[in-house]
Amino acid sequence: MRWEGNRQSDNVEDRRSGSGGGGGGGFGFGGKSIGIGTIVIALIAWGVFGINPLTTIGVLGGGGQPAQVQQQGPAQKPPAGDTKAAFVSTVLASTEDAWAQVFRDGGAQYRAPRLVLYRGVTPTACGTGQAAMGPFYCPGDQKVYLDMNFFDTLSRQLGAPGDFAQAYVIAHEVAHHVQTLLGITQKVDAMRGRTSQSQQNALSVRVELQADCFAGIWANKSQQAKNWLEQGDIESAMNAAARIGDDAIQRQQTGTVRPDSFTHGSSAQRQRWFTTGLKTGNVQACDTFNTQAL
Ligand SMILES: [Zn+2]
Repeated sequence: MRWEGNRQSDNVEDRRSGSGGGGGGGFGFGGKSIGIGTIVIALIAWGVFGINPLTTIGVLGGGGQPAQVQQQGPAQKPPAGDTKAAFVSTVLASTEDAWAQVFRDGGAQYRAPRLVLYRGVTPTACGTGQAAMGPFYCPGDQKVYLDMNFFDTLSRQLGAPGDFAQAYVIAHEVAHHVQTLLGITQKVDAMRGRTSQSQQNALSVRVELQADCFAGIWANKSQQAKNWLEQGDIESAMNAAARIGDDAIQRQQTGTVRPDSFTHGSSAQRQRWFTTGLKTGNVQACDTFNTQAL
């Protein structure tokens, strides 16, 4: 991926220096965060921190009303010369360009999210963000939260190296922001309270596969605009989609696969929906809620 030299976003907020957030005093659980993979997160928690995955999943499953987006001052920018942060800023800028275009074509205006770089823990409107949760989006403050150490986990523990795999992860989280702007997040949250656990899981799978499809739309639009993909890039994103599929994670974690407990979709489904977005570049093609065949 030839990302160097492209525009960088002003919406990156660097919280990596300083106290590390202090555990979120004053922030309630104002909403439910949406991550790259709850099971992935649990797996990481298990592997790195020795936390029981079921506990982690329980914490992430908590509901609540989205909070109002707070007024915010200018973001603390990453230092110049920080290549990893520059990469994230560049990918974020490309999501801004891609979605601004999609929204404009649909007669609407895109409001870009902020992306917070942090280390360890940080306060969010969805409760205290922890690196063990993996990257996530909080609808309550409309921010993507990323501890860049996740990229090492993605590469080494989950077997998904490559900068385009990392870009896919960022695009997936931004896709949850797009779902929030489109009112999809809110509709799904309203439905969640009235359904059984397995129905909630099934709903979550549709949300997540749509986010993968939206990430594919980003890949389509940004490639059209920048022609920055190199040989092997699409494969590395497809590999990441497979590695964080629920079946792959469960097989790695417990040796057995239980489809009714899936929250993000199987490897094949995640690859298929990313490909749908990539091939079509069309939001309508990403209607995972009105399809029989996921
Ligand atoms: Zn997600």
